[in-house]
Amino acid sequence: MTMHALSPDLLGALRDAVGPNGMTVDAAGMAKYLGDWSGDHHGEALAVLRPASVAEVQAVVRLCASLGLGIIPQGGNTGLVAGAIDIETAGSVVVSLERLNAIRCVDADNFVLQADAGCILQTVKDAVDEQDCLFPLALGAQGSCQIGGNAASNAGGINVLRYGMARDLILGLEVVLPDGELWNGSSGLRKNNTGYDLKQLFIGSEGTLGIITGVELKLFPKPVRTETAYLGLASFEAAIALFRQARRASADLMSAFEIIGSECIALARLIDVNMVSPVEAPVHVLIELSASAAIDLRTLLVDFLTEAMDSGQVIDAVLAESSAQAKSFWAIREGLVEGQAKRGYHVRTDLSVRISDIPALIDQARRFVAEDHRGWVPLAYGHAGDGNIHFNVLPPEGLDEREARARGTDITAGLYRIANSLGGSISAEHGIGRTRHRTFMAGLAPAHRRLIGTLKNALDPQGLMNPGCLLPATETAP
Ligand SMILES: Cc1cc2nc3c(=O)[nH]c(=O)nc-3n(C[C@H](O)[C@H](O)[C@H](O)COP(=O)(O)OP(=O)(O)OC[C@H]3O[C@@H](n4cnc5c(N)ncnc54)[C@H](O)[C@@H]3O)c2cc1C
Repeated sequence: MTMHALSPDLLGALRDAVGPNGMTVDAAGMAKYLGDWSGDHHGEALAVLRPASVAEVQAVVRLCASLGLGIIPQGGNTGLVAGAIDIETAGSVVVSLERLNAIRCVDADNFVLQADAGCILQTVKDAVDEQDCLFPLALGAQGSCQIGGNAASNAGGINVLRYGMARDLILGLEVVLPDGELWNGSSGLRKNNTGYDLKQLFIGSEGTLGIITGVELKLFPKPVRTETAYLGLASFEAAIALFRQARRASADLMSAFEIIGSECIALARLIDVNMVSPVEAPVHVLIELSASAAIDLRTLLVDFLTEAMDSGQVIDAVLAESSAQAKSFWAIREGLVEGQAKRGYHVRTDLSVRISDIPALIDQARRFVAEDHRGWVPLAYGHAGDGNIHFNVLPPEGLDEREARARGTDITAGLYRIANSLGGSISAEHGIGRTRHRTFMAGLAPAHRRLIGTLKNALDPQGLMNPGCLLPATETAP
């Protein structure tokens, strides 16, 4: 890829493509787009372009393609893996979708929504809620991340065990291809078994194959009953055994099952000093059942929890008596993530193993940190019902950041080794970005690696779409 300084001619052409309000080149204006949510990843870009229509996205892409200019698609910049900004992006332009943000239509009769890619996830959820529907993708960043970013990163979140990941929730996509042509893969159809399912290529492609401009989503009936309980258990083994029983006993109406190591609670208190944990126990579980009809979820929940407490499997349990109390339980789960961000740089992972291997993963990872990285503080929590554990590690307080980052790289590599040795994945949901691309490619079988390179080169022969993301630049040289 050719590196460019922005000549006055190029500046003018880009401004013409997006209009005067759609381009920013000064440092102050670009700052918001050049740092991610976590504060861990900062980058550079030649310009930030903010197209306000699909036609403007096409014009920008055509121009960049003709000039050999790299394009970094950007949603809410909450992706955590340096996919939407990085130091490597200095020779490219950021294309933010934030002005392409209309709900196109909510078709409650067919349980379908169409929206521009730049719609904030929470806006999508609110729009369908008004029509007695549910869009079940739910994650801590839902007030900032965009639905196009969710599609591009195949986001997961807390309701995956019931409804699946973004990949399972998307009926169709509209994408501007790397040469500027528009591909519309939305038909409103639930079943369309006609050859390659092209939308799946773009879901999880992290901006490397095109810019998603529109999404068509599956909706569900809105739950009218929800029961939430906060439990205390003695071990992760007990938590996983409970998950198995709870799934059967709840008639598969469970919509969330989160586990939280008690060491994480102190982090939630950094966000709310008055936060009181409902239980005292080594392992906490947040469980939610929901239904779209008047089913007696309370009895289901109480019955199996009574049994689990009688057998000693559950030490303590608090059932939410109101939606406000349920919210306070979830505030602990959300607060512990925000609390980590307050601690600055730390090792952050989203490992995935078979559900039954979660206790082994946590046990081995904790031993690895205790033996090889004394003073570092391990945190284990996650979407246990999906086998997804965030095993994060805080540096000792006061450790110089440069030293912490160097050590953090070793710790991350060790954690990936442990996940791999259990047959797991280095990314359950955040994706590859630029923080794991080398580990990702190195771990692939030759046929897998070749297929990925073939697809990338076929769709983006100039290698202009999010260069260096997912595939290190050397893998994509045309
Ligand atoms: C507090 C917090 C909690 C989180 N919890 C979860 C969780 O539970 N589950 C989970 O899966 N993730 C979680 N995340 C990660 C993140 O929110 C998701 O990955 C989200 O889907 C990213 O969306 P975004 O709009 O911010 O995308 P960005 O970060 O802007 O971009 C992500 C990637 O997608 C590409 N991209 C963005 N928009 C487009 C587009 N329109 N077309 C093509 N490519 C595009 C970018 O180039 C980049 O490679 C969390 C993050 C935070 C900060």
